[in-house]
Amino acid sequence: MTSTAGKLIKCRAAIAWEAGKPLVIEEVEVAPPQAMEVRIKILYTALCHTDVYFWEAKGQTCVFPRILGHEAGGIVESVGEGVDELAPGDHVLPVFTGECKECAHCKSETSNMCDLLRINTDRGVMISDEQSRFSINSKPIYHFLGTSTFSEYTVVHSGCIAKINPEAPLDKVCVLSCGFCTGFGATVNVAKPPKGSTVAIFGLGAVGLSAAEGARLSGASRIIGVDVNPNKFLLAGKFGCTEFVNPKDHSKPVQQVLAEMTNGGVDRAVECTGNVNAMIQAFESVHDGWGVAVLVGVAHKDAEFKTHPINFLTERTLKGTFFGNYRPRTDLPSVVEKYMTGELELEKFITHSVPFSEINTAFDLMLKGEGIRCIIRMDG
Ligand code: NAD
Ligand code: ZN
Repeated sequence: MTSTAGKLIKCRAAIAWEAGKPLVIEEVEVAPPQAMEVRIKILYTALCHTDVYFWEAKGQTCVFPRILGHEAGGIVESVGEGVDELAPGDHVLPVFTGECKECAHCKSETSNMCDLLRINTDRGVMISDEQSRFSINSKPIYHFLGTSTFSEYTVVHSGCIAKINPEAPLDKVCVLSCGFCTGFGATVNVAKPPKGSTVAIFGLGAVGLSAAEGARLSGASRIIGVDVNPNKFLLAGKFGCTEFVNPKDHSKPVQQVLAEMTNGGVDRAVECTGNVNAMIQAFESVHDGWGVAVLVGVAHKDAEFKTHPINFLTERTLKGTFFGNYRPRTDLPSVVEKYMTGELELEKFITHSVPFSEINTAFDLMLKGEGIRCIIRMDG
């Protein structure tokens, strides 16, 4: 038992008071975890584009004031009633989508879409009592993705927490809790490129570069990076990209450019942009007969995917995935081990690091499209 167990904790959190306005670091009260919940001391967190989308709230549901953040690593401070797989002191990664281990999805061989704990971007409260655990002057501050890691302490459902090797450096493996696993898993678990195949990656942010890394480790022989920001091409070579296409450099549609480069289409395409037009382009870029496209980006809430049905009839497959089809509790500890044994390299994804007091810099970097991941150090 820690001395803070069962008590309110006062700590610093970065509050998004309104859409698109800089976050403000304030003192919040964090209530103790209720049944099946865990309170975590966050040590490192990173910014993912999904945080930026919901902060901008352009075409996304507005829930404010809110504590954003979902890619992080920390240590369990205390646990609520009924939590028996986690204890104070455990090193953990909170994940935006969970695993109850009881529902039809959790029991299926293929799905990570848990009925109880699957990603819900609109919910700002805990599942058990529909209340927030964060408050300022008794007024609730809402949660985000069930994780709200832009706070020194946060409360998360125990089913959304992966317990990991305590030797693993949290300032590195925190990127496994969203970006890396999402992109890497989209390729290795979902697109499954055969050895020697050609893979196109649309969008070369952290998620897309992780997808490229998955293609490289799967033995793809050509990895074509597609991005509208040519600065991304400078970094992408390190992640296995062998060629680049900037759709803005061409007057014809990018799917036609790719078809000409590859004798009819790529074997696999992984979309990591969040732009619905890029999603359509990714699908229409895959070869007929065997091509598979995987969507990863989170699109505008009114977006519609339109393509001619002939593109399916000619035997192309379209799939989508959250969190690279990984189950957070079952699969994440072994992904951490892959990093520990040197099979996965995470350092190259981390281009910036800022103290918590400068969290808005991480937003500026992402908005300018600079770097890959910016780690936010909670003690700073
Ligand atoms: P990011 O902003 O770092 O990278 C996105 C990249 O896409 C940028 O380099 C941008 O220039 C490029 N891009 C934008 N529009 C494009 C277009 N029309 N054509 C080609 N390139 C284009 O973002 P990120 O953190 O890597 O996240 C990527 C996407 O994945 C986001 O939509 C995010 O919300 C989503 N995401 C999904 C999941 C999931 O589980 N499915 C998890 C995390 C993130
Ligand atoms: Zn479940």
